[in-house]
Amino acid sequence: MDNTIERDRKQLIENLISLLATIVVVGVVAKFVVAKGVNAPVPAIFLALILIMCSRYVRKGGSLDLAAGFIIGSVYTVFLVAALYIGGFKGPIVYLAPLMPILSILLFDRKAGWIGFTVSLLLLSIVASFQYVGWTNSIFIGETGLLISNYCVAAISCLLVTWIVGDYARRSKEHSEAHLRNAETDFLTGLANRRKISDTLKQEADRARRSNSYLSLILVDIDYFKRLNDSSGHQAGDRCLIVVAELLNHFAMRSIDVVGRYGGDEFVVILPSTNAHAASEIAEKISGEMASRSLRYEADGSDRVSLSLGVVSLQGEAIESADFLIKCADEALYYGKDKGRNCVVNTFVDAQAGQVSFERL
Ligand code: GH3
Ligand code: MG
Repeated sequence: MDNTIERDRKQLIENLISLLATIVVVGVVAKFVVAKGVNAPVPAIFLALILIMCSRYVRKGGSLDLAAGFIIGSVYTVFLVAALYIGGFKGPIVYLAPLMPILSILLFDRKAGWIGFTVSLLLLSIVASFQYVGWTNSIFIGETGLLISNYCVAAISCLLVTWIVGDYARRSKEHSEAHLRNAETDFLTGLANRRKISDTLKQEADRARRSNSYLSLILVDIDYFKRLNDSSGHQAGDRCLIVVAELLNHFAMRSIDVVGRYGGDEFVVILPSTNAHAASEIAEKISGEMASRSLRYEADGSDRVSLSLGVVSLQGEAIESADFLIKCADEALYYGKDKGRNCVVNTFVDAQAGQVSFERL
């Protein structure tokens, strides 16, 4: 998470440098071409040099805090010099004042924003006092020129604020989406975690009841997984969990299917709109594919790691609840464990008689 924030901050600083540099260059060109300026725009050239140096420094992996400090420091300095240089409150630059606290918040934090706000007020007071005693340079660009430059600076302010707020909104949306994804994902296998399985199963059970359609569930458990961990180590155990996850994803390939890790070495496959026959076929394919993967308990042993699978498929009103589906699949799974493991067990529910029976394939 911290790395993501640092990466975002680096990208933000690089983008900000490019945007500010573009604005400075466009401003300098406009000064000569449109406003027919004559004297060199010293503050703008100073800012451009600082931005180029910061850009190189950040690209070479320099400290982001230092680069951000330099950018903010130079923007504030340029603001003061430019405001005094181009007409004080009669010139265009004072329009940029509200931007500076925003820059401080964006590049540092809210506290820096309040410091930035105080510094902005201080600089505006300096400009006002200088103007009061007549020390600010007058501008010689005429009324139309002043209108154009005021308009341009106000437009630049809008552009920067829009970009800053837009970028902030995009990043916070990405973070909350990533947060939500992490909260629903099993870290090791990348499958849905128990929370997501539980939510999905409730939704699908409701949907199947409403539409009188089938909902199937396969509970999958690795046989003697503890033995694999004990003989080949936890890393081999983790690799086996990842292989099983890939394999389940391969067979539950429709966009509406959901594969999840229920916990430990137990997995769930939720198959909406799938009847008992189709679900059982998928379970058999999973079991067959696992056998062909030739994962072994001991590196030099001959025993292959196998799976036990409990299958349940119910339609419409017969789906009492999501928990009922899990309970049936769990009982089928343990029936398979009792009957020797490495098998698929189908569940038959007689709702009227209130009886549940199992068949080992
Ligand atoms: P059975 O055939 O009855 O299912 O036997 P089993 O050994 O698979 O069942 P048991 O529940 O005794 O063992 C599950 C083991 O899974 C115990 C636990 O240490 C291991 N385990 C749980 N989570 C992980 C994990 O994330 N990685 C690894 N490597 N092992 C895990
Ligand atoms: Mg197991």
